[in-house]
Amino acid sequence: MNAEEIFARINKAREKAGRPDSEKIFFTAVSKTRTVDEMHEAEKFMCIDYFGENRIQEAENKNALFGSRRIPWRLIGHLQANKVRKALEIFDYIDSIDSIELAQRVNRIAGELHKVTHVLIEVNTSGEESKSGVSHQNFNELVDNVIGLENLRLEGFMTVGPLTENQSEIRRSFAELRGLAEGARTSTGLALPVLSMGMSDDFELAILEGSTMVRIGTLLFGPRVYKNI
Ligand SMILES: *Cc1c(COP(=O)(O)O)cnc(C)c1O
Repeated sequence: MNAEEIFARINKAREKAGRPDSEKIFFTAVSKTRTVDEMHEAEKFMCIDYFGENRIQEAENKNALFGSRRIPWRLIGHLQANKVRKALEIFDYIDSIDSIELAQRVNRIAGELHKVTHVLIEVNTSGEESKSGVSHQNFNELVDNVIGLENLRLEGFMTVGPLTENQSEIRRSFAELRGLAEGARTSTGLALPVLSMGMSDDFELAILEGSTMVRIGTLLFGPRVYKNI
């Protein structure tokens, strides 16, 4: 468990970016592939704001074991239409809204469950086809739709940086999300404060580009081994 080291690195990056310590950078511990015991252990060692999970089935299994006292969970993986209801039952936040159809479906089912759901729009800033997220071109239309849906509360945006060692390319991707967010704040007049960007390998670059929430798995828990949980 590298909790102290991780927080030291977050703070250092924040200082380098010239951002005040009053500006909190939220910590999402990405717990995919980790057992409930590992998650409880992590909570003891550090101040975690959220757990992030990618797969509904895995989250459902773990949720049943977790106990009722828990920090909020965020869905950070792609959401399939047929899993929306389950996702809304388990997750406190859905960070991977990437199409109008999905947004409308989440809105409708949230209404049936008498819930208001806090969401992020996921943007594909790397241009990599394997990555989910709305494209730059369709971004404004999606924002306009989401803010009009009564059971969704748009809090901001998420992106996954490109898979490359090239630091300027990674920063360009994060800067793109920041720019899109600034545009959306101006056009909507909403605060939309959350910029969820930065993982184990690139969170410092993300903080330099204005990240307000990092999502860290490997650095906290060690390398992932895919198994059935
Ligand atoms: C797995 C995952 C992470 C965490 O990645 P690490 O490299 O293990 O820190 C963050 N965000 C998303 C969307 C992920 O799927």
